[in-house]
Amino acid sequence: MIAELISVGTEILLGNIVNTNSAYLAEKCAQLGLSLYYQTVVGDNEERMRETIRTALGRSDIVILTGGLGPTEDDLTKEVTAEVMGLALKEDPHSRRLLDDYLAQYQKNDAQRRITSNNYKQAMVPEGAAVLDNHNGTAPGLIMEKNGKTAILLPGPPGEMKAMFEEYVFPWLRKKQPEMIFSQMIKICSIGESQVAEEIQDLIESQTNPTIAPYAKTGEVHLRITAKGNSRKECEELIQPVVRELEHRFGKNIFAESENMSLEEAVTVLLWERNLTLSTAESCTGGAVAARIVNVPGASDVLMQGMVTYSNQAKRKTLGVKEETLNLYGAVSEECAGEMAEGGCSFAGTDVCLSVTGIAGPGGGTPEKPVGTVFMGCCVKGKTTVREYHFIGNRARIREQTVAHGLAFLRACILENS
Ligand code: ATP
Repeated sequence: MIAELISVGTEILLGNIVNTNSAYLAEKCAQLGLSLYYQTVVGDNEERMRETIRTALGRSDIVILTGGLGPTEDDLTKEVTAEVMGLALKEDPHSRRLLDDYLAQYQKNDAQRRITSNNYKQAMVPEGAAVLDNHNGTAPGLIMEKNGKTAILLPGPPGEMKAMFEEYVFPWLRKKQPEMIFSQMIKICSIGESQVAEEIQDLIESQTNPTIAPYAKTGEVHLRITAKGNSRKECEELIQPVVRELEHRFGKNIFAESENMSLEEAVTVLLWERNLTLSTAESCTGGAVAARIVNVPGASDVLMQGMVTYSNQAKRKTLGVKEETLNLYGAVSEECAGEMAEGGCSFAGTDVCLSVTGIAGPGGGTPEKPVGTVFMGCCVKGKTTVREYHFIGNRARIREQTVAHGLAFLRACILENS
């Protein structure tokens, strides 16, 4: 079944408010296994709204509209939808009573507040429509059906819309569309997006149900495997063989098999499972790697210390980097990164230390070491590994990539050396 979304409101069209209703509803449609091909935003203009609704009902089975159900003159969604569908409006006694109760409640708190005739516009209901009570506001929602087409009207305020959707619309749609969609996420690090894409090209080309969709995130690639079926169990059974195949192809580079597991959490869990303590010795990232680890509840079990050693003096004094190393190779060098990681383990008394030293720019680059050159060192129980990276972008982008790749590097070194 094909669903379509229309968000009504000039404030959305002008960018004054962000269209969070559509994002929420699009996700719900996907969960319900509804195909969604179009989302439209239309202002509070009668003619354009009429055209938009007519087009949507022409090409989709279910059109979900949000906004424009209020009491004022420019709230036109119900009137225009009813007109396009050829349904007459009649006052609904139940909605009128609820409206009276709601407004009386308001008057208790604000004696000045008058009930205007406008308010009762909200109790007018298109013939045959199902009325969805609004427990958080005055505008009722509506489900209108005619000639195999459905229009679902929901209030604009997200709190009202979501409560109404969950209570009435989701179960109603579930009955209409018993097939469901279920997804599983596989998260990969230490391999680039294009390499991942190449390695799963055959799976993507032959896919029907389930499907695999890759998404790139800084330093990570996520693969969403989505199946359609009549139950969660059926979907899971379709997904499992694909997950096994991906595990076979990407092995240790898979750091998570659930949507909610972040890279920093995967690293923290790994350290915890292997009973290892961690410190960081950071230069160009200024403590951002440690900050990512601190995002994880329970990080204090593994993270002992984060050192920001920005100057050469700090690298020497805190981490014991040799003066000779700094003079001969410079602070941004393989040698310095290695000594920083080893010195970090000694100073903080940890099993593992990740070091980061690089040129985030915009200044400081040379032909041999251009902006974006970063060296990372990782010492795990005395075994030190150093890697050179070259990132592209402005200062913020280089630092962001350094942090993400730093976590992936740290994870790889722990897996390799402990
Ligand atoms: P009301 O009875 O409150 O007038 P309504 O159904 O007429 O409800 P609108 O007047 O269109 O809704 O919108 C009310 C408010 O809801 C907007 O000012 C905005 O803050 C929020 N809102 C409306 N549409 C959206 C949307 N698509 N995404 C996020 N917020 C929205």
